[in-house]
Amino acid sequence: MHPHDQTIFALSSGRLPSAIAIVRLSGSYAGAALQMLAGKMPAPRMATRALLRDANGEPIDDAVVLWFPGPASATGEDVAELHVHGSRAVIATLFSVLSALPQLRTAEPGEFTRRAFQNGKIDLTEAEGLDDLIHADTDRQRRQALRQLKGLLGDKARSWRDQIIEASALIEAGIDFADEGDVPAELMAPALLRIRQLLTEIEQVLAAQGRAERLREGLTVVIAGPPNAGKSTLMNQLARREVAIVSPHAGTTRDLIEVQLDLDGYPVTVIDTAGIRETDDPVEQEGVRRARDRAAQADLVLWLSEDDQVEAERQGDTPVWLVRNKIDLAGEATSASGTHAMFGISAQSGEGMGALLEALVGFARDYFGATENGLVTRERQRQLLQQSAKALRRSLTTIDLGEELMAEELRVAAFALGRLLGRVDVEDLLDVIFREFCIGK
Ligand code: GDP
Repeated sequence: MHPHDQTIFALSSGRLPSAIAIVRLSGSYAGAALQMLAGKMPAPRMATRALLRDANGEPIDDAVVLWFPGPASATGEDVAELHVHGSRAVIATLFSVLSALPQLRTAEPGEFTRRAFQNGKIDLTEAEGLDDLIHADTDRQRRQALRQLKGLLGDKARSWRDQIIEASALIEAGIDFADEGDVPAELMAPALLRIRQLLTEIEQVLAAQGRAERLREGLTVVIAGPPNAGKSTLMNQLARREVAIVSPHAGTTRDLIEVQLDLDGYPVTVIDTAGIRETDDPVEQEGVRRARDRAAQADLVLWLSEDDQVEAERQGDTPVWLVRNKIDLAGEATSASGTHAMFGISAQSGEGMGALLEALVGFARDYFGATENGLVTRERQRQLLQQSAKALRRSLTTIDLGEELMAEELRVAAFALGRLLGRVDVEDLLDVIFREFCIGK
């Protein structure tokens, strides 16, 4: 049996043990498997209580089961959901019973979504939105992913693509029509008008876009400065504050390398360069390597110093904020005001941290700009939109060279949008995209 024809199953809920665990099955054998386990078929889409049993009639667990016959299901195939108690033993038993059925196998990461895509339930931009939604840490990331999942970009791209195809149909009709001479103006004029309008729309979406792609990854802020300036103390201060949303990646038991902050919905990763150092522990080495890579591409440097004399080491054109630490030690007269530091803080007591965090929120807001309405969230999407816009622009400049060339450029433009939606030529790409998904999704 071809792997795509097999019925797949996976744990679709979170880490065990948990109150409830959801095992999902998708494929033509999902119904038979459900019948075997539950001893009956529940009515479609109705939560039904059932005692699940193995092939010998031994009870496995008391469960709630759901039956979604295809094509009106999430994947477009027959889907069954088993809501069982979230114990490791229940899942282990259930999985061994399911694996013993020859038509069934465990799902690859993202395979449910991939099937939904292949069965036309969602387009590729929606699949990407789904992946982003699952991985969203902050509110703004969630909202952006949801827009994508609702298919806003996909709907636009579909409509653009249809209009390009219509425009090129007009031109191609004209080519056939005009054996000698040019395409008649009554065909060419509306085609040109439409192409110009489309080009403007696509360019607007690309421009209004800000840096929505970066909202997926977040901003990177590096803390640098001379030894003993208080960098590690500042990291600990940040990690202690309620804004820290993800448990910090601790490189060692002593120091943090990174903390991830949710600053008013903007994801911001702060990296301590003092935590970056040589180590023999392979796990720690990996953390250090990653931190170093990220620090090299920082969006902002906080240069920490104890006094005012130290000049920040500039790194390219990354903005540097001078932050004077240990203001608790300095007398009134010598505190941050009147010095050239932008901020005065005490990493130890937390004094001045409010103003620093507020400024970071402002920085993030400016950085991400108008992403609130951003539709393009990935490099892949941006590139394809740019390709399409370029081809449209070329089609307008090739008019004089002949209608055939113009029609060819329109085909290129439509093809790029087709790829954006996942309509054409994407097998290789699918592997890349769906590999990032969780198992059971
Ligand atoms: P790093 O080398 O830059 O990471 O500096 P550390 O965070 O290890 O701090 C060096 C020393 O300065 C430690 O003894 C800290 O307790 C102390 N320190 C850090 N921040 C402050 C502060 O705001 N006020 C005072 N009084 N001491 C601080």
